[in-house]
Amino acid sequence: MENVHRKLQLLRILAEGCRKHPAYRARRTATGRCEECAVVWKAREELEEHHENNPWEDWFDHGGKG
Ligand SMILES: [Zn+2]
Repeated sequence: MENVHRKLQLLRILAEGCRKHPAYRARRTATGRCEECAVVWKAREELEEHHENNPWEDWFDHGGKG
């Protein structure tokens, strides 16, 4: 992905997750019933479109620390 700002924006969406469903980590598709979950899922999808490997995966799994 060339647009680093877009990437950071997507990463932030993923890191913040859904306020109503903090357990939802976009590991599977959103139910479609919650708009915020859908936004998180779309952000993850967009990131994965541009990367076969996910270098942020470890970072994300550790809650964005380290
Ligand atoms: Zn939700």
